[in-house]
Amino acid sequence: GQQNDVELKVDGLVKRFGGITAVDSASFEVESGSMTGLIGPNGAGKSTTFHCITGIHRPDGGSVRFQGNDITGIRPYQCADYGLVRTFQIAREMANMTVLENLMLPAKQQSGEQLWRSVMPFARRDVIEEERELLERVWDILEFFEIEHIAEEKAGNLSGGQRKLLEMARALMIEPEMLLLDEPFAGVNPTLEHKLLDHIHELREEGYTFLIVEHDMDLIMENCERVIVMHQGSVLAEGNPETITSNEQVIEAYLGG
Ligand code: ADP
Ligand code: MG
Repeated sequence: GQQNDVELKVDGLVKRFGGITAVDSASFEVESGSMTGLIGPNGAGKSTTFHCITGIHRPDGGSVRFQGNDITGIRPYQCADYGLVRTFQIAREMANMTVLENLMLPAKQQSGEQLWRSVMPFARRDVIEEERELLERVWDILEFFEIEHIAEEKAGNLSGGQRKLLEMARALMIEPEMLLLDEPFAGVNPTLEHKLLDHIHELREEGYTFLIVEHDMDLIMENCERVIVMHQGSVLAEGNPETITSNEQVIEAYLGG
């Protein structure tokens, strides 16, 4: 069969905000099981591209395909059903919830059975069983990220780095196949950054696909086998780290601003 399946295909993506064209006909592909970096100067359109892929923004043009399915203009809550997830910052209203509660929530929200459950009290045994399985999954993930000791800690009390771990742990709770990470290392100290990277590599070996936006070019070059460079809303270059670092246009885009 095919050697490299395409997990995500973005084709001619356009997003405008008033007079600003934030994403200007961007096209790229992400291979299944790869760790792909998305880089580019500030304002290049990286975050907007993520938002268009995951339904935060509705694109003004172009298409997004995930595992062969057309998901253009998808609603954010539908992403989980497809196995596509982006990390998002722990919202203020979650700061008072413990790490454990924060991890229970996404899976519960994902479950479409909540409604009939509330009117069918005799389903309790099932509910308890599901709850138990969910808890087991939460503990597996806590163990994986080595954060069991903060399970009962309020999310608002976590350090910046711990919060990043929680954000990724939350994303994994919905059992995705592809993760979009927007600056997952921002504000993370070097020790924890290494840990986080180890976890990402481990997950990748398990078969997850990663698309990572990161401003630290060295980090991307050292950890990704494929790099996409955006500039002024478009894809300027695509290729392996060696090709990208020696690309004249890329160098100019970074130096020229
Ligand atoms: P990056 O993540 O690469 O730094 P962004 O996608 O955040 O870039 O932004 C791309 C461009 O779109 C920038 O000029 C930014 O100011 C603009 N932009 C992003 N989001 C909005 C928005 N919600 N409303 C208006 N302009 C926006
Ligand atoms: Mg951004």
